[in-house]
Amino acid sequence: MSAKGFSLNMRTISDHMDYILVCTKCGRENADPAFRCSRCASILEVEFNYKGKKPKIKAGRGIKRYSDFLPAAPFSLGEGNTGIKKSTIKENNILFKVETGNPTGTFKDRGSAVEIAKAFELDAESVVCASTGNMGLSVAHYARKAGIKCTIFISGGANKNKIKKIMNEKASVKKVKGDFNTALRLAERFAVKNNAFVCGDYHYRKEGQKTVAFELIEQLTKHEPDRIFIPVGNATLFSGMYKGLNEFKMFGMIKRMPALIAVQSERCGPLVSAYADKKHITYVRPKTEADAIAVGYPTFGNEALEAIRKTKGDAIAVSEAEIKDAVVELEEQGIYAELGGGTGYAGFLKYAAENGGKKSSSVVVVTGNNEGIFKEKQA
Ligand SMILES: [Zn+2]
Repeated sequence: MSAKGFSLNMRTISDHMDYILVCTKCGRENADPAFRCSRCASILEVEFNYKGKKPKIKAGRGIKRYSDFLPAAPFSLGEGNTGIKKSTIKENNILFKVETGNPTGTFKDRGSAVEIAKAFELDAESVVCASTGNMGLSVAHYARKAGIKCTIFISGGANKNKIKKIMNEKASVKKVKGDFNTALRLAERFAVKNNAFVCGDYHYRKEGQKTVAFELIEQLTKHEPDRIFIPVGNATLFSGMYKGLNEFKMFGMIKRMPALIAVQSERCGPLVSAYADKKHITYVRPKTEADAIAVGYPTFGNEALEAIRKTKGDAIAVSEAEIKDAVVELEEQGIYAELGGGTGYAGFLKYAAENGGKKSSSVVVVTGNNEGIFKEKQA
């Protein structure tokens, strides 16, 4: 499943921690630029070889500070360093991690900074990515800045405003008749045929996404939160944050793991169903208006299930009306989110109402704002 023919661009190889790419299912070690296991086509995981070295957080700003924890020194365009904000609603004992301040308005930029760095290091002439919108915009922006050609396969029903923004980044946009999983199949096929580096919800992106957890822990002065509420589409952020927290725990940077709570729409909740029924993930046809999380079969679904179980977390489904109400309530607190971006808060409100969870400390990740329904921070 790997695209062949890349050469290592030795001049740009960054001084990063040694690692191997291991299949999450069969354990086979794969070589760059694999995006799935060459034996069983499952997704891969970056496993670091620390060789007794403790990774250090560097001085400065943004996600470059975490280069010791990453498989490549990020191709940074100012992503990360996003704000943490206290809820203005007193009885909510929560903090918001607001990812809308990233260069293209979503958390996706952290993953793109690592992926594009890797594409550059491997001397890739072009990249390809399947997207519901936000990831495509982010990859297109980073690719353009790095001078790498970019093709985006965009799922049917994608937000027109997002498609326009992707085109403005000079990417070649291929509109797909089908949902995200169809776009994903087409993008992977395109990659093999055209020798393109595959960006998207794979192992390198997951590494970039885990920096949300790193930053969050550094920003919290007192202690780890009891719970973190995270919207879930492909579950890359969710499983990435779990990986990041585990790494911080391994190096004594946190004492205990927060419970990770996945939030999906009732109209697209394959992870919630699998968790409730104690079964494997099965595909559902996405029917949610929250396009950023309209993924019928999450790539990192199994990893997310493990993260929920290991952290004694939960998976919650919220209605479309609850998502819209949460976005409005966020706006009243000065935070502008798109529907997918506000879904974590909808999950918190539901959880708190059912469990009296307002007494414990929680963090809600507000993942993005790109639909243009509310005032945008981005120009
Ligand atoms: Zn395998």
